[in-house]
Amino acid sequence: MKVVADLHIHSRFSRACSTRITPSALAASALEKGINLISTGDFLHNQWLTEIKQNLEPDKDTGLLKIKRSDNGVRFMLGTEVATFFWEKGKSKRVHTCIMIKNMENISQLREVLSKSGSLDIDGRPILSMSAAELVEKVISVERDAFIFPAHLWTPYFGALGETTGFDSIKEAYEDMEKYIYAYESGLSSDPKMNWMVSQLDKYALISNSDAHSLEKLGREANVFNVSKIEYNEIFKAIKDKDKAKFIRTIEFYPEEGKYHYDGHRQCNFSLKPGKSSDRICPVCKKPLVIGVMHRVMELADREEGYIPSGAIPYIHQIPLREIISFMINKGVGTQAVENKYKELINAFGTEFNVLTADPKSISKIDHDIAGAIEKMQKNEVKIDPGYDGVFGKFELL
Ligand SMILES: [Zn+2]
Ligand SMILES: [Zn+2]
Repeated sequence: MKVVADLHIHSRFSRACSTRITPSALAASALEKGINLISTGDFLHNQWLTEIKQNLEPDKDTGLLKIKRSDNGVRFMLGTEVATFFWEKGKSKRVHTCIMIKNMENISQLREVLSKSGSLDIDGRPILSMSAAELVEKVISVERDAFIFPAHLWTPYFGALGETTGFDSIKEAYEDMEKYIYAYESGLSSDPKMNWMVSQLDKYALISNSDAHSLEKLGREANVFNVSKIEYNEIFKAIKDKDKAKFIRTIEFYPEEGKYHYDGHRQCNFSLKPGKSSDRICPVCKKPLVIGVMHRVMELADREEGYIPSGAIPYIHQIPLREIISFMINKGVGTQAVENKYKELINAFGTEFNVLTADPKSISKIDHDIAGAIEKMQKNEVKIDPGYDGVFGKFELL
């Protein structure tokens, strides 16, 4: 069966997240997107965990979780993101790591172990005072089957290989616990093509998730599997083995659209395409620039662009449908006009992913202009003004 999985999302208890995120709203929005496997997000957080337990129950067939009573086919996996920090030689090392676990019974023990290093209940994404390696060690000591991966690997502030974190390899970030890491999340500002330039990453599987802070942003990146059963071990074995028969592709945001693609300064309205020896100082304010994902990838790259490692999982780029509609009708992405058109297309095609991959001729029967825009996207004829320092990139489909 085809499984479309988004393994990194947040609940409304994480900072800056939509208050509309509830377990049943997640299930409904996932279905609308075309996602049938989703992380619960934030399972270490007391209040969210209570909601998970109230609203979800184990599915006998898969061991995963489903919505009680009104099961719509969407399955949940227990997942969370944890921020760790420690000081080394006067520099703070802050890393975000995602953790998926199989057994709900282990959460109380995990909470007990981790709460010694910081509060789990202030933020859905807890901030713990320890190294990333210590986090992995503690999680594995409680849940041997945990699937652990660095979140948004390259982002400047919290990516394991990001600029301010300063690690130059996953091994450096996770020390001897790296042996438990077999995948990494590429993040919105990088795509497989960029990561393939860095040979040290070949040994890991690249996965892509939305890191959504609202229902609308679910699935802006995702992973597509073809497995006999939607099951914890089956999914993670497909990832671990980079089994091309089972791990079919990743769905990617255009990396230029990501908000840390280029170097730049938001305040100074300045961005820069990084080169090998590019300037790190802002010409406007003379302070150090926020070094983006592309810059860091180039620093660690030991291959030319275009190199495809053997065993690489294919990918496609997509722009979220609401963004395409917003661009075409020239109305804000959160407006009713965009929502109405979105619903019209979902009603016709079933899911957002169906719309984005549909034959433009069939979309044309509903909306000629949007069909044209989607056709452009399918042909990768997208012009993007790249993002930097927290500013999302802007695309054009003309
Ligand atoms: Zn994060
Ligand atoms: Zn500046």
